[in-house]
Amino acid sequence: MRLLITGGAGFIGSNLIRHIIDAIEIETLVNLDCLTYAGHLENLESVAGHPRYVFEKTDLRNKLAVFDMLKKHRITHVMHLAAESHVDRSITDPNDFIHTNIVGTFHLLEACRTLWLGPQPSTLNTQPACRFLHISTDEVYGSLGPSGRFTETSSYAPNSPYSASKAAADMLVRAYHHTYGLPVVTTNSSNNYGPYQFPEKLIPVVIQSAGARKPIPVYGDGLHVRDWLHVRDHAEALWLVLRKGTDGETYNIGASNEQPNLRVVELICDLIDELKPELGGDSRKLITFVADRPGHDRRYALDASKIQRELGWVPMHTFEGGLRETVRWYLDNQAWCDLVLTQSTKPRTSGTSILAPS
Ligand code: NAD
Repeated sequence: MRLLITGGAGFIGSNLIRHIIDAIEIETLVNLDCLTYAGHLENLESVAGHPRYVFEKTDLRNKLAVFDMLKKHRITHVMHLAAESHVDRSITDPNDFIHTNIVGTFHLLEACRTLWLGPQPSTLNTQPACRFLHISTDEVYGSLGPSGRFTETSSYAPNSPYSASKAAADMLVRAYHHTYGLPVVTTNSSNNYGPYQFPEKLIPVVIQSAGARKPIPVYGDGLHVRDWLHVRDHAEALWLVLRKGTDGETYNIGASNEQPNLRVVELICDLIDELKPELGGDSRKLITFVADRPGHDRRYALDASKIQRELGWVPMHTFEGGLRETVRWYLDNQAWCDLVLTQSTKPRTSGTSILAPS
């Protein structure tokens, strides 16, 4: 495999690269990332000198640069993770979500189509064993009531600009398979947690706030339910789907860890009290309910029986064990948090102009 991972400097991408870099199937692993506020090469210090690893600072919004990158490295496999990923930011300003998540995915699909199938739609000269794995979210299915779970056949009903942009990308990927025969697979996973998640998402925000004795913001009544998946379990599932999944199929990835947000926050408070008693304990008193997010989906839950049944994937982390390990990681890596938060406020130059014609 000459494998391209997009968004490899982000949370899931960096955990994925660390997880698979030594796999014997990989000849070259190219990490394509333009390093937005959420992408940090410090997430990948342990693999930076690896002989198979190459970093390319490239913006998916630049069609020509994406084409050049795939051609230059003669890419045979793609794991597409790069995206604008934060729902709150998509509500404040959806612009980058449309351009990166939809148009960027289109550029990548076009580059793969040209490289793998030839410039004419009728030229079916697919290289052996090429594959495009598109990484998506359970949020495309919309919101659930108190019961039931999303399956791969649930209809799409995205409610935020983020989930709508991911749903649009999923549809493009599907169309490239049906129209051109591009060898694609899509995964839809539930909420991830674990080390190296940028401190804007629920779990790292709560750890940071409790550690600094600041108010811990909880949206609405705190009873919105999310289905939590440890990022290393997700990485293992993605690696399995890339090698063993069936072309044109979609796989839900979830670990059946449904938790109301307030319960997650309380668990973290108790872990902070246990692991950092010098902070004075009683972290729960920092919990502060704030105005709800507009259009906040009430409940997500995934039925992941297909990937378990067909590919034999099973999650290894319990939520309690994974959360304890995650809280400990953040407490031990405050310097990383300070660094990425500082970097994210400074403008960083893009490796490739997004103004190239598309
Ligand atoms: P992240 O925000 O931590 O990382 C995204 C990465 O993409 C960053 O490194 C960023 O620099 C890069 N990127 C953004 N725009 C780019 C562009 N135009 N060109 C090149 N690189 C660009 O995101 P994450 O949490 O690691 O999520 C990765 C993928 O998984 C996303 O597609 C997301 O939709 C999906 N997903 C995430 C979760 C979750 O809980 N985090 C759950 C389900 C699915």
